[in-house]
Amino acid sequence: MMTKKQDTYYCSTCKKQVNFHYEPVNHMKMALLSLLTLGLWVPVWMGLTFVKVKYCDECDYPLSDD
Ligand SMILES: [Zn+2]
Repeated sequence: MMTKKQDTYYCSTCKKQVNFHYEPVNHMKMALLSLLTLGLWVPVWMGLTFVKVKYCDECDYPLSDD
């Protein structure tokens, strides 16, 4: 490795190392989806609350951990 890159992640959409950010969970939207799906959305809501998803700063797509 030539240089140590900090706080960057490979984005498969941009095809390069990018900075990333975490998107705050929209709890209003999650509550609404839970109501619309009669509670089926609740596990997804919980998952999104506890698992922080990284988003590319450049294209705003979620970055996978692969
Ligand atoms: Zn990207």
